[in-house]
Order: sequence, then structure tokens, then C-alpha cells
Amino acid sequence: MATLEIRDLHVSVEADNATKEILKGVDLTVKQGETHAIMGPNGSGKSTLAYSLAGHPKYTITGGTVTLDGEDVLEMSVDERARAGLFLAMQYPVEIPGVSVSNFLRTSATAVRGEAPKLRTWVKEVKEAMQRLNMDPAFAERNVNEGFSGGEKKRHEILQLELLRPKIAILDETDSGLDVDALRIVSEGVNRVRESGDVGTLLITHYTRILRYIKPDHVHVFAGGRIVESGGPELADKLEAEGYESYTKGGASA
Ligand code: ADP
Ligand code: MG
Ligand code: MG
Repeated sequence: MATLEIRDLHVSVEADNATKEILKGVDLTVKQGETHAIMGPNGSGKSTLAYSLAGHPKYTITGGTVTLDGEDVLEMSVDERARAGLFLAMQYPVEIPGVSVSNFLRTSATAVRGEAPKLRTWVKEVKEAMQRLNMDPAFAERNVNEGFSGGEKKRHEILQLELLRPKIAILDETDSGLDVDALRIVSEGVNRVRESGDVGTLLITHYTRILRYIKPDHVHVFAGGRIVESGGPELADKLEAEGYESYTKGGASA
């Protein structure tokens, strides 16, 4: 069983000619088969954590470690992270000119699996996964992220997740910009991957609503660049009722 271990992670960004520390000692362990929700106010550093794990060059690791089964993730290139079994939805947030969804998915699957999927079975696999996500087959021929709506981006994300079957998946704001129907379809996709039993999921969100569809095993409150409280699913209910105020008083938020 794969284990992602984040230890005392400190991360800074350069902004306005100054160095700003955003992550201030994040500790978290995610094992295959577990679902963790990270919840917190806007600006607390949740996306910074996701980008840092994805290896985004804008974010400088100034302290701490991230390992996957003892292997140093921070030393890995973006592609190596994917091959090691990490799925980071925000890895390719940009348009990729001239690359269709279909080709992009096959290239990604080839990188992750170490060999190109057989074309006939692959086409079928993609078609079926798209049907489950209520996606128009024509979507496969569009260029990656070109003119994608918020909902299409999220579906594309879950389509990748279903096809790539990572060990650990990190999903940032998977619920933002989705109407209720799309939220349900996307959540069902995440749950299908979960039920396969061999993925660990880190679900990062500001809102509690996605947790009506995806039940986390562990809930963490993120404020001021670190995890300030951890608990079970009942912590999400408390956050839904009370909000984040008690965590951000006294300037605890970044
Ligand atoms: P969250 O996802 O919890 O809303 P973010 O990680 O997006 O929080 O942002 C945390 C803080 O870091 C904010 O104050 C934000 O302005 C700052 N920040 C994040 N990324 C950058 C960046 N690339 N350049 C400058 N500031 C950034
Ligand atoms: Mg520290
Ligand atoms: Mg964010």
C-alpha cells in the first residue's frame, strides 16, 4: 500500500519583489485506500499545497519533506511524479495547442503504465469512461483545455483519474464551478475510483457541499498555511454549521 508523507513542509512564493512564506509546516500522511478532505478558508494556502506537490516552479520548498513510499517526491520531475503514481489534477491546467483530449489521455496512460495501451481496448475504455461521466463523444477530439467550461475541465479531470488509476490523487476545488448535476456526476466518478479500493484521495475544498457526495475518512482544517485540526467526518459537519471563523480569528489565516 502506497503512502504519501508530508513532513513539516514550508513553501514560499516571490511576490512584489518579496518572499512570502505561504505554507508554514504542513504535516499529513495519506495512504492508498483512504480519503482525506482538506478544508479551509480562502487564502489559507490549500492550492499552494496542491501546486507544491505537483512541482509547480512558482513555489519554492524552503523546508520539510514529501515522500511516496520513502521516495523523495520533491526531487522528481513532474513526469516522474505521475509515473510514481501521483495524480495532480492541476498538473496541466493550461491549453495544449494541437493536442486532442484523446491523444493527451493515451500519452498520459503510456507514461503512467510504462507501455502504450492497446489501441482497440483503449478506445473502448475511453468511450465507456466518457459515457459514465455523461460526456459527449465529440469531446475526445477537442484540444486539451481549449475553451473548456468549468464543468468540462472538472469532467476531464475525473476522466483522467478514472483512466490513469493513480495510487494517490490530489484534487483541488473539484467542486467549484459545478452545478448540482455535474457535481453529482463528478462525485460519482471519484467514488468509482475510490471503490476500486486502491487509490488514496486528498480532496481539497473550501465548501462542504461535495462532502455530501464523497464521504471522507479524515477531515483536516487548513488555516494560516498549516493543518490546525484533524478529525473524522463529523468535523465536516461542524464546519458546515459553524464555518471557519473560529480558526481565522486572531490572524491565523494567511
Ligand atoms: P487557497 O487555495 O487556500 O485559497 P492559495 O494557496 O491560493 O490559498 O493562496 C494562499 C496565499 O498565497 C494567498 O495569500 C495568495 O495570494 C498567495 N499566493 C498563492 N500563490 C501565489 C503566487 N503564485 N504568487 C503570489 N502569491 C501567491
Ligand atoms: Mg516548521
Ligand atoms: Mg485554492
